[in-house]
Amino acid sequence: MDKKAIGIDIGGTSFRMGAVTSDGTVTCFRKVSSRTICEGGEAVLLLAEQIRHFICEHGLEGRIAAIGIGFPSPVDAAKEVVYNCPNLQNETGGFDGRNVVKLLEERLSVPVFINKDANNLLQYELEIHGWKNQGTTIGIYYGTGIGNSVYLNDHFLSGKHGVACDLGHLPFYLSDRCCTCGNRGCAECYGSGRALRELWETHYGEEELSDIFTHHGGDQVILEFLEAMAIPFAAEVNIFDPDRVVIGGGVAEMKGFPFERLMEYVYEFTRKPYPGRDFSVIKASREPGAGAVGSALYALEQLGYGKGE
Ligand SMILES: [Zn+2]
Repeated sequence: MDKKAIGIDIGGTSFRMGAVTSDGTVTCFRKVSSRTICEGGEAVLLLAEQIRHFICEHGLEGRIAAIGIGFPSPVDAAKEVVYNCPNLQNETGGFDGRNVVKLLEERLSVPVFINKDANNLLQYELEIHGWKNQGTTIGIYYGTGIGNSVYLNDHFLSGKHGVACDLGHLPFYLSDRCCTCGNRGCAECYGSGRALRELWETHYGEEELSDIFTHHGGDQVILEFLEAMAIPFAAEVNIFDPDRVVIGGGVAEMKGFPFERLMEYVYEFTRKPYPGRDFSVIKASREPGAGAVGSALYALEQLGYGKGE
């Protein structure tokens, strides 16, 4: 029998949920406002209700092998507890510090596997491109913050506490800008969607944010923004000497985003002669369900079901 998992990708404004077979085929899909899991109670219990509703709605009772969820937050090394999701807050603290796996498994009686969202997005790319066992792959996602995932020696880097590769919090020298993490000078203060929005409000607030690159791609403040995006990117390339880097996230997908310009800054900072320019750069898939599919494939992999089994 073909194994099916529910994959969920949780973002600050919406979350996506799909039933996915082990070859990555999506059989049912739903996009829901994240308010439904933040407003009116304990976030994990509201999420459990949404999952239960999805299972009933699509007649999936007894047909789900696992549930995989990607959070916009690091999770602990045991992959049970969500550390902190600043974009999913409510009066009871949102998902922060909750053992999401235990709470959901108690209510849904299905194995649950959680991950930081960047790992599940990269899982999707690894599967569709066949990059498993193919050297080192890095994913950098310029969204509200900077998401990051590193896959080497056939594993995602996790670290002692599960927080490895939080590239958005690479510190910049002599900075006094405050980051949402509480530190000062993090890369996210300069090269993220949040930073771009601040830059837009300061310089171009009378225009549409979506036009910022098409109208002002060559302006000094935009070039400085691109350089700030390039610094953590190049730093990670210099550390890992990767085979390939996947670039995604809302900022990199904006209209007229100056990708070549970004890469010129990156190549300026990468060590010569190697890694230099000798790594592939791939734009992330724009498939809207990529994170949900990646979450489901991750869950099935944890159960020992490989691709297409
Ligand atoms: Zn920070």
